[in-house]
Amino acid sequence: MKEELNLSKQEIIDRLFHEDKNISNIFNSASDLNELREKLFDYLNNSERNLFNIYIHKYSDKTHILERNNTKECIRILKNIIRTENEELSKFSALNILFKIHNKDEKSINEVEIGFLLEFLFLIRGMNGKFHLTGTPVLSSNQITAEVRCKILDDYSKQMLNHFKNFKNGTNRDCIKNQKTVKNKILTYFSATEEDWKDYKWHLKNIIRDYKTLSELVKLEEDEIQGIKEAEKNRIPFQITPYYLTLFNENGRDKHDRLVRAQVIPSKKYCVNVTLNKTHNTDMDFMGEKSTSPIPGITRRYPNIVILKPFDSCPQICVYCQRNWEIKDLQDAGTSSDKMENAINWIKKNKYITEVLVTGGDPLTLDNKYIGSLLEKINDIKHVERIRIGTRVLVTLPFRIDNELIKILRRINKLGKKEICIMTHIEDASEITPDVLDAVKKIKKAGLNIYNQQVFTYFNSFKYQTCFLRKNLKLSGIDPYYSFNTKGKEETVDFRVPIARIEQERKEEARLLPGIVRTDESVFNVPKLGKSHLRSWQDHEVIMILKDGSRIYRFYPWESMLLLIEDYLYTDVPIYAYLKRLENDGEDIEKYASIWFYF
Ligand code: SF4
Repeated sequence: MKEELNLSKQEIIDRLFHEDKNISNIFNSASDLNELREKLFDYLNNSERNLFNIYIHKYSDKTHILERNNTKECIRILKNIIRTENEELSKFSALNILFKIHNKDEKSINEVEIGFLLEFLFLIRGMNGKFHLTGTPVLSSNQITAEVRCKILDDYSKQMLNHFKNFKNGTNRDCIKNQKTVKNKILTYFSATEEDWKDYKWHLKNIIRDYKTLSELVKLEEDEIQGIKEAEKNRIPFQITPYYLTLFNENGRDKHDRLVRAQVIPSKKYCVNVTLNKTHNTDMDFMGEKSTSPIPGITRRYPNIVILKPFDSCPQICVYCQRNWEIKDLQDAGTSSDKMENAINWIKKNKYITEVLVTGGDPLTLDNKYIGSLLEKINDIKHVERIRIGTRVLVTLPFRIDNELIKILRRINKLGKKEICIMTHIEDASEITPDVLDAVKKIKKAGLNIYNQQVFTYFNSFKYQTCFLRKNLKLSGIDPYYSFNTKGKEETVDFRVPIARIEQERKEEARLLPGIVRTDESVFNVPKLGKSHLRSWQDHEVIMILKDGSRIYRFYPWESMLLLIEDYLYTDVPIYAYLKRLENDGEDIEKYASIWFYF
């Protein structure tokens, strides 16, 4: 696969039209687009029919059933792409462009990107059963003795463990040493004491939100400096807690802290895009929350659950936050008691609501008096069985989990009657530090469960990185719950990963872990309608490939068998661009070769 990625456009075009003799003949003989479409449909339909026909020698004798199944999928996707309905939906015809490229139309050749051509090269290979690009061995059932099987399983484990060596968790000796150094620097800088450090209010008072302070505490890279300066110029809030800054490598970015830094330092591209959105009054509410909010402070997308938002800021701001349009600088944020009173009354009146997710912003930015009284009010609603607190303080400000808060949580949590639990958001194992473990211990002692929602971004999408996170979460008493596809917002394009990569990670990496560890579900959050499980093939399909190689997905909502409701079109990031970025970051992209065959 590495070879194909480095071919010239013309070389790929040559391969593309010589990959399948029958397809080449169809392109050679078609006089116009309609004829081409008809002939291709006939050919693909026949191929599909013959695939499982025991009297057809080509497939029944030679091709493994697993390959035939993959072939069937590639045929399905190719048929999707040449369907006129999908051309109308996506306002683009990949077939038309391919037809023109085949006829040597220079303009079309110039217009398409390599990623577009590679998608079709691999699709055609796929429909010819050529999936195992790295030469996967074929075993028949009589070859699989217990010993052979053990050897295969050992190899899987070995592969995973070898990859784990690329990552560190926050209790690693080097990480602790770095944390200590940066912490001491911060204490000196702010003339603070050990006691201050353990006080979460001290951290809130000393949030780092300017270039000067940040650059005096850790070494910044040139692109980071540009991003921060652009954020300051355009008044885009960014915030880093002194605690979280200790996860930065003091002497500059390396492969272990690039994820940590990218989460909180807005890039120049992000700032430019946000500023453009603001200038053009573009609605950044990608999830359509405004239209799923029956009254201010409440969002509802599911039968039993509502989201309650008492606060619109967080101790630190994640650049890729889906609510970046409403997350304010901590200094500008506020609570409205009227809004919360009304919201709680609304929940009280709706007996179908059994679960309240208190989120925001980060509700644990609020003090114990406020949050305690709010939780008690929700607790008093008889039909509410579960309260979930969506918070990132475990990672951004673990000292916030103080004894008073634990007392409040313990009071509400009643086994068999009412559950209160913590939904946190840990992106990488390096964020699980001794301070985080101390906070987890307190929460677990109070009898609460902790669940993790990871956003699957470019920065944690490296081979086995999320497996390493799952393993460390579970060992730390936290259950992996969701892996979210990063929202398809223009300003956060640097974080986005092709859906195919999430599917590949689930199938080829997560599947190797014990079931008790891979408890998360990978999901795509469909605006207004809620989560679509990416493992559920009925809920989405590829319908088009655009000139730049990005796939258009058509999502069907989770309730598609319960209600006839609108679908949703989503344009993904190109696989080729993703692989090239990995390659530039030193990854062996051969390990990702099967990504083209996830749809
Ligand atoms: S902690 Fe959550 S709500 Fe706050 S900025 Fe990060 S993702 Fe957004």
